[in-house]
Amino acid sequence: MIFTRPKPTSHAPDTSIYERRESVVRSYTRSMPRQFTRAESVWMHDNQGGRYLDFLSGCSTLNYGHNHPVLKQALLDYIAGDGITHGLDLHTDAKADFLNTLEQVILKPRGLDYRAMFTGPTGTNAVEAAIKLARKVTGREMVIAFTNGFHGMTLGALACTGNAAKRGGAGVPLNHVAHEPYDGYHGPDVDTADLLERRLADPSSGLDAPAAILVETVQGEGGLNVASPEWLRKIADIAKRHGALMIVDDIQAGCGRTGGFFSFEGMGFTPDIVTMAKSLSGMGLPFALTLFRPELDQWSPGEHNGTFRGNNHAFVTATAAFRHFWSDGRFQEDIDRRAALLERRLDAIAVEFGLSTRGRGMMRGIDLGSGETAATVTAACFDRGVIIETSGAHDEIVKVLAPLIIDDALLSAGLDIVERSIREALSAPIGVAAE
Ligand SMILES: *Cc1c(COP(=O)(O)O)cnc(C)c1O
Repeated sequence: MIFTRPKPTSHAPDTSIYERRESVVRSYTRSMPRQFTRAESVWMHDNQGGRYLDFLSGCSTLNYGHNHPVLKQALLDYIAGDGITHGLDLHTDAKADFLNTLEQVILKPRGLDYRAMFTGPTGTNAVEAAIKLARKVTGREMVIAFTNGFHGMTLGALACTGNAAKRGGAGVPLNHVAHEPYDGYHGPDVDTADLLERRLADPSSGLDAPAAILVETVQGEGGLNVASPEWLRKIADIAKRHGALMIVDDIQAGCGRTGGFFSFEGMGFTPDIVTMAKSLSGMGLPFALTLFRPELDQWSPGEHNGTFRGNNHAFVTATAAFRHFWSDGRFQEDIDRRAALLERRLDAIAVEFGLSTRGRGMMRGIDLGSGETAATVTAACFDRGVIIETSGAHDEIVKVLAPLIIDDALLSAGLDIVERSIREALSAPIGVAAE
């Protein structure tokens, strides 16, 4: 038996400190009211003896699992040797190693020529830098983003985000962004890239010439909608012809989540700017990066910065991750095999229950039709020891973001639980607890 349920809790843990002192803005803790103590590989442990298979992976921040031994050892050695922890953007051994490895292991083999900009360590900061740079270089204000897109919580990135509840938190107008329909938004018969082209070509459409077109190749928070390579090639071509920069936000879909290191590999276009964060450090350390064509590097010194730009501990773990996982094609073969298994299993569930699937690579989910049903499924999974969350405009998609390093048999065992929880949720009236 490779899978064990968490032990039932004997007594309710004391959570009063959180209610007393932590802001009500907290969210995941509401659906997973446990206190976690340890984690390794695909497992998380709570302080009641419960063990959970992690199908959330920090929203794709832990693609290599928790505390991967190779990454952990690299960091322990670095700290033991009194390596620089914080150095603003000074040259450090850790930064040199990171940049050299980025060049040799990631960029060169893919024929990519990008400069790397270290922004503040969160994804939203990488997006802010990307859209600022695009506005600066083009002298234009307007950015085109897409329906259901998610790009972060700071004002510039939030303006590019579609979700009304998130936008509502801004407290000021979110402007200088047009939200155009993503691939498939109007159904399979309408090519929304053609609609965009038509609006941009029409001087009376009301759509101003854009500084940038900002796109996710798979929409992580927005419901695992997938853009086809043809559509993305068209978007790249539209950007080029209309003097805009194409920004791919690879914060969630990158670092192997959809197969390759970058989500757009092999699709026949090269983004002008790419944003990375989440799994970039490989160990869950905060680290973000904005990559762009060298000709776009028109910043003046310090024009965009951040005290924690270039997190040296993250340089160390990211470098170790590049070397360990990306030096040859083996990891990608593993991902492709697991992704095929995931696809097969989700397709079978969808067929059995008349549902539909979403996503690509190891970033896939199943549409339960309503947020309520999806929440019933995730709660039942959690009770059985699987951490899994939802995505989509109505939180209706149960999304599987298993660590990419997961053993195939364990992936299957976790999916058995997802399947069982879906079966129960669809046969029980909503609100009736599973089991
Ligand atoms: C998570 C995410 C962001 C924001 O990253 P933070 O680190 O939360 O600021 C931006 N874009 C995409 C696609 C994301 O998934």
